[in-house]
Order: sequence, then C-alpha cells, then structure tokens
Amino acid sequence: MIREKVIWKVFGKKLISYKKLDDGSIVGSGFFNPVVDRFRVITMFIAPAKFYKNYDLGRWRGKRVANTFAPPVGSRAMLRAMKNILRGRILRHARPIAMTFAVTYDCQCNCVHCSAGNHYRTDVPELTTDEAKKLIDESLNLGISVLAFTGGEPLLREDIFDLINHVNKKKAVPIMFTNGQFLTEENVNKLADAGLFCIYVSIDSANPDEHDEFRGMPGHLHSGNHPQGPNGNFHNRLTPLVGLPARSAD
Ligand code: SF4
Repeated sequence: MIREKVIWKVFGKKLISYKKLDDGSIVGSGFFNPVVDRFRVITMFIAPAKFYKNYDLGRWRGKRVANTFAPPVGSRAMLRAMKNILRGRILRHARPIAMTFAVTYDCQCNCVHCSAGNHYRTDVPELTTDEAKKLIDESLNLGISVLAFTGGEPLLREDIFDLINHVNKKKAVPIMFTNGQFLTEENVNKLADAGLFCIYVSIDSANPDEHDEFRGMPGHLHSGNHPQGPNGNFHNRLTPLVGLPARSAD
C-alpha cells in the first residue's frame, strides 16, 4: 500500500509531499519537491529547526540549537553557511561548510576502531599554537561554519582552550570530540569560557566492560572524570549527554 504524507498544501494542490512505496523507498510527490531536493542541504538546517520545535536541545548564546553539528538557528554562522551553500549552488563556486581539525594524534586510549593512532609519530612535531591558529583562520576564510576539534585526544593539547577561543564565533561554531577522560570541572569551565558550542563524548556500550575493551583501557568508562564516572557529574555549564550543546556563560 502506498502511503503519502503531505507537508504543505495550498488550495488542494500538494506543494511538498512524500510517498512511501511498497518497497520502502520514499519519493517526493509535491509540486515543489524537485526544488526542495535541489536545495536539500539548506533544508538540512531548516527542517530540523521545525522538527525540533518542541524538543529544545538547548540554547547557545541565546539561539536555539536544532542540530548539534550545525550552527544555532538564526545565528550569523548559520546564515553564513546558508549563504555559502546558495553561492555554491548558484555560482557553482563551492565552499566548505565544516572542517575537522585533528589537533594531535596522541591519545591515552587504544581503541580498536582508531584511525588516528596510525598517524601518531614522535619524530614529527605537532603544529605550534601559532600554526594551528593560522590554519583556523585560513579555514574560516575558506567559508567554514563548523569547526570540529578532534584527535587523538584534543584535551591532551594544553592550548586547546586557546584554539577554541580563537575561532571567530560570528563565522563558525567550535565543537569537540573527546573520549571524556579529562573532563575535569576545571577543563569543562575552560571549554565553556572559550566558547565551545558542543561536545561529543564517546560511549561505546552500556556495558562498561565492553566499552573498556573497545577503548583498550580497563576502567575507562567509570574512570574519574568521564561523564559516566564518579566525578563526571557535569555541572550546569555543559550538558552531560553525547552531542548536546555546551551552555555558554551568558
Ligand atoms: S579515543 Fe579516539 S583517538 Fe583515542 S584511541 Fe580511541 S579513537 Fe583513537
């Protein structure tokens, strides 16, 4: 049986609608669907905002967060992303939207899935703080609106707060991936002060032994400052769930 969901209808005319076919595939059936498909990257930002209207993921600098990997709704970084996407579509001059910056390949874990560890070499120096800032500036100039700090474990770099602070928040939101072990209260405060938008903490299994085996580190899930650990009760400046936005001080 073919089922149809009508999103937008005017005078009986279906403008945006979707059909679910017997084979499970979903196809657009409304008049404007081809346009929606063409600009689907933009609808990625708008549709979640509508969808999550009743699910307030959080606020960041007063703006509503609808997607933890996209700038908050109505922020200058989001408008910049949309402008760059449109420019890419219309002028055929594509610009990057997001950059992932592995600030170090060093890490205290030894995960089975790790792709960073293969790159770790003690004989090759990491970027200095100034070089890393230059890379951030150049990426912002290219047009990015999301800058993801990752590693290795980014909190092993002492200047990570300085680097996050360096990101011009009118252009891009800084997010960070971490294995969670170094999220001391002091570090959480410093991350929030530096203007981190969102933090992703890896939890591989609800079973601590499975998680630890995956991470190659006995006791990792329940170690001191991991959100699941005894001291890991994030205070109110950072949300203690995977992928939820860090709350800014203001
Ligand atoms: S925590 Fe991340 S960087 Fe560290 S070993 Fe695991 S996957 Fe690799």
